[in-house]
Amino acid sequence: MRKRLMEDPNAASAIDAAWTRSQATDEHPKREEGGLFGKVDATGSSIDSVFVREGNAQGSLPGFGQWAQKKIRDNRGVATYDFWYHTHPHEAGEIVAGEGQAINPEFPTGEGGDIGVSQDLDLLGILITKKHVTVFDKKGFIRCYFDR
Ligand SMILES: [Zn+2]
Repeated sequence: MRKRLMEDPNAASAIDAAWTRSQATDEHPKREEGGLFGKVDATGSSIDSVFVREGNAQGSLPGFGQWAQKKIRDNRGVATYDFWYHTHPHEAGEIVAGEGQAINPEFPTGEGGDIGVSQDLDLLGILITKKHVTVFDKKGFIRCYFDR
């Protein structure tokens, strides 16, 4: 899994780009970012579909699930997604405006959160933090965990 993600320059750059988008800038505070990653059916080349954020929530991705369902549907027969990915840019205990204290960023949240998204989409999840990448399945099992 690590090989699939880190030796594919497109996957590695999708992960890095999501992290970069997550970081605070003059225009926005730290915020979660996400997308879908897979392969084009005809060529086997990688496809990275970036979620365009809706609203101002920093510690979640409102609208992601519906967007992803539609993307998967619209690309059926053209591309097959293997993973959904998202970032956890906040450190444990950090105050997230309007949302309270951030929890440990290194674990996917439960069935009402990250694991639920994997269940709804039937995809492996990639969780991106400052130093690590974690791949988890829809049962919440960690499939792999490695340094970025
Ligand atoms: Zn999450």
